[in-house]
Amino acid sequence: MIKPKIWLSSPHMGGSELSYIHDAFDSNWIAPFGANITGFEHDLEKYLSNGVFVTVLSSATAAIHLGLILLDVKPGDTVICQSFTFAASANPILYQGAIPIFIDSEEETWNLCPIALENAIVDTIYKGQIPKAIITVHLYGVPYKIDEIRAVADKYNIPILEDSAEALGSSYRGQKCGTFGDISVFSFNGNKIITTSGGGAIVTSNHKQKKKIQFLASQSKDKAPHYQHSELGFNYQMSNICAGIGRGQMKVLDEHIFLRRAMHNFYASLFENIPGITVFTTTDPDYFSNYWLTSILVNPAETKNGINKETIRLTLLDSNIECRSLWKPMHLQPLYKNYPFYGEKIAETLFENGLSLPSGSNLTDSDKDRIRTCLLNLLS
Ligand SMILES: *Cc1c(COP(=O)(O)O)cnc(C)c1O
Repeated sequence: MIKPKIWLSSPHMGGSELSYIHDAFDSNWIAPFGANITGFEHDLEKYLSNGVFVTVLSSATAAIHLGLILLDVKPGDTVICQSFTFAASANPILYQGAIPIFIDSEEETWNLCPIALENAIVDTIYKGQIPKAIITVHLYGVPYKIDEIRAVADKYNIPILEDSAEALGSSYRGQKCGTFGDISVFSFNGNKIITTSGGGAIVTSNHKQKKKIQFLASQSKDKAPHYQHSELGFNYQMSNICAGIGRGQMKVLDEHIFLRRAMHNFYASLFENIPGITVFTTTDPDYFSNYWLTSILVNPAETKNGINKETIRLTLLDSNIECRSLWKPMHLQPLYKNYPFYGEKIAETLFENGLSLPSGSNLTDSDKDRIRTCLLNLLS
């Protein structure tokens, strides 16, 4: 008998989402406008604090795209991006006809290496261009080296577009991720820590920018009695139905963070005495991770019978347990192979040896038993 599937990260409803959807139906705001949208934006602003302005959108990809437009990224411009990430961090650079420059990770946070970053900036300036933006990522929920990266960005006066898609609820020195960029984004895709089925948000620091985002996201309609457009617009708004799900999810965000972190602890103790497996953990108390996904590194030179990450992945799959290889770095992707890359082989080595394990806030004790049994049978 095939056991039910255990997902890497699946939607986890809190219970109040449907009542917000009912409100949308009752008021007939089945539209990209309405009380759920303003309510969800308000909830996010309150959660993030720091006086930020939030605009919810159809996805984080859309948010990154509009963020680049706000930062005036035009065809032929260069934009720096963390290589070790999901393609959605980088693709909007190409949407704008700009040129991505990829940067390696460092080993502590798995995110942007400040040294490779500065090398790339210096070299790009030497070649005659000042990069227009730096796209930073808090991969798997772990904050990047906020102070070091900010220092480099400020030294060369380049704005940061903070991809916080995986890091809602993470923080650095008590300040929430999603408030460190000149512009920041979140994702509420189905597998993120909270979901609106699909959706995203852009965080800006003033009301004028928020107005501009709303303008661009709703087809850039000029003030006129007819439909008139002076600028290229997009259809990137969030539906009032989806925003209703978001409002319900905000009520359980803290609980989701607690449970994701509990999953991380589950793996930390599971692998404590298993040779060759390291659970990716932040030890610096300044860094608080939501542990959206818990990831491991596999060292086949130390594991039982030289087991590698692929064997672990296939063995879990055999038991109907989903897991996923770490992100394949962008500079190794066929789509991006001809763009510049600065760094060593840190991201590449992480990709070769790393796996993300089921990390959902809705995993049951019996799910955990199945995962534990499967992994211990293989590795101990
Ligand atoms: C999920 C994700 C995105 C894209 O989010 P969507 O809302 O699906 O567009 C972007 N960047 C990172 C790092 C992500 O994990």
